[in-house]
Amino acid sequence: MRIILLGPPGSGKGTQAQLLVQRYGIVQLSTGEMLRAAVAAGTPVGLKAKEIMAGGGLVPDDVVVGIISDRIDQPDARNGFILDGFPRTVGQAEALDELLKHKHLKLDAVIELRVNESALLSRVETRVAQMRERGEEVRVDDTPEVLTKRLASYRSQTEPLIHYYSERRKLSTIDGMMAIDEVTRAIHRQLLALGAVEPKTHARSAAKAAPAKKAKAAKKKAAKKPAKAAKRPSKSTKTAKKAAKQAVKGAKKAVKKTVKKAAKKTAKTAVKKASKKGPKKVTKKRAKR
Ligand code: ADP
Repeated sequence: MRIILLGPPGSGKGTQAQLLVQRYGIVQLSTGEMLRAAVAAGTPVGLKAKEIMAGGGLVPDDVVVGIISDRIDQPDARNGFILDGFPRTVGQAEALDELLKHKHLKLDAVIELRVNESALLSRVETRVAQMRERGEEVRVDDTPEVLTKRLASYRSQTEPLIHYYSERRKLSTIDGMMAIDEVTRAIHRQLLALGAVEPKTHARSAAKAAPAKKAKAAKKKAAKKPAKAAKRPSKSTKTAKKAAKQAVKGAKKAVKKTVKKAAKKTAKTAVKKASKKGPKKVTKKRAKR
């Protein structure tokens, strides 16, 4: 499955991409992440991108198209991928169409996460606060000023993609203002409707739950085992039974048939009582005899 997540900064693309990765076993290809890694590593691409990113502008199309093209060729992307933050311009979308055609790959869907612009700033502020709390490094472009610029870039350069993919009948718009799991469910329903995922992907989460079920069953079994063992006669009860049997043998030898029967009966009752009452009383009985 190959999908694109489209939406302004703070719309939840990254969050949803991670959840979809877990659910469908595909990879997330985030140009933002890749570029940040390039900046951190100081690669030629990173050096080119650093200032542009810090200012909230867009890195040249050829740079990101090159990165994505290489990444799609990696073995882990063979199963499918989610493009997060790419394409961001009509030029990138056209380049993506070309490279997918060249690689004989098909795009299944473009999911647009629609959110109120008024919510975006507070969402990014929350993200920044949470990252600080966790002691993580905060993105240099996650400031109100740069965010305003990123939003402007989105509106002027990325929003036209909504029309681009809608014309090509690829676009699905999801309400990104719902709770995280509701958005995930809505995306899944959309992918099902498009035939991009098999209904059995429902079962994937069930399959995940299966080991837990198995473990539960094993626990039950284990709990039953000691119970069974408890039912098994104890060592001393066995000894009592043996003794009773020997008593029968002795009785057989000593008395006539009728007496034998009586002795057998007594012995059998002793066995029954022995196994019922436990070893202590049996010992008493044996002592009496
Ligand atoms: P967000 O979606 O929150 O704006 P990203 O992590 O996707 O953040 O991107 C961070 C920055 O990386 C962008 O503001 C931009 O400078 C650069 N960038 C990421 N993807 C692209 C792209 N496809 N084309 C151009 N620049 C990009």
